[in-house]
Amino acid sequence: MLDVQGLRVEFRTRDGVARAVNGVSYQVHPGETLAVLGESGSGKSVTAQAVMGILDTPPGKVTGGRVLFHGRDLLTLPEDERRRLRGARMAMVFQDALSALNPVMTVGDQLAEMFTVHRGASRRDARARAVELMDRVRIPAARERARDYPHQFSGGMRQRIMIAMAIALEPELLIADEPTTALDVTVQAQVMDLLAELRRDLGTALVLITHDLGVVAEVADRIAVMYAGRIVETAPVHALYERPAHPYTRGLLDSVPRLDRRDGELYAIQGMPPSLTRVPPGCAFHPRCPRAREVCRTEEPPSHPVADGRASACHFWKETLDDLR
Ligand code: SF4
Ligand code: MG
Repeated sequence: MLDVQGLRVEFRTRDGVARAVNGVSYQVHPGETLAVLGESGSGKSVTAQAVMGILDTPPGKVTGGRVLFHGRDLLTLPEDERRRLRGARMAMVFQDALSALNPVMTVGDQLAEMFTVHRGASRRDARARAVELMDRVRIPAARERARDYPHQFSGGMRQRIMIAMAIALEPELLIADEPTTALDVTVQAQVMDLLAELRRDLGTALVLITHDLGVVAEVADRIAVMYAGRIVETAPVHALYERPAHPYTRGLLDSVPRLDRRDGELYAIQGMPPSLTRVPPGCAFHPRCPRAREVCRTEEPPSHPVADGRASACHFWKETLDDLR
């Protein structure tokens, strides 16, 4: 359904050109959940914005690649066609609902507008469907609350409203960018449960962008791990947890607290992610990698097929895979 091929995005900054997305490829199949995992600044949000066609341009610019949606390249589609696709067939949920919603319009009117504008519904019908949607995302007293403005809702409820907006037209693809990061832990779990449930009921494919491995384990079918503007590993969730094929993934997994580790020692990947204006040559991870050798400093590792649809961009993916700890 979605086939991103060799996507490149650059930003002009005061420090020079930042290669925020540096040849990213991934596929999303109908109904599946792909988690895009990475630290902040790894390029995961920018990739999503380029896919949705909502990149801030300038300073951002797509400099290469293709974004095929059912075989059509979105990057060459006229803006009005792209706008029609957004909302109707692909939609996005952001971290910060307050800035994504219109502050001077009631949430009922905002939801109803999806149906009047995109579906030609009458105002009365659209209002009724807006209330149904609010019900569906479990906003208590939906009929009354439809008359409230975004700032009158809690963070968790606002996030539900944004999810309602996103699913209003039953899109085939939903991209959720850190949808629960701004919420506290219990509310996070509720919102993730809601997303999983809607995805099941509607058959929507979900691209879930997150830095949180815990969230990934619960909802994703597959994971793409990003580092410094590249995807370093893709794998089905269970395979990746059991046997990562990239040292960066290994490091991420080892830095999650585990109940079965009695030593209580928590590993942390040494160093910091690089600035995207100064990505190290060769393998971008080499200054932080415990496995790095000479070749890693000079040769950029290609994406090696591992098995079962897995891939790793590491020269020593085999050794990493066989390192069973
Ligand atoms: Fe580490 Fe080398 Fe693999 Fe990069 S290519 S992750 S530096 S071992
Ligand atoms: Mg982000």
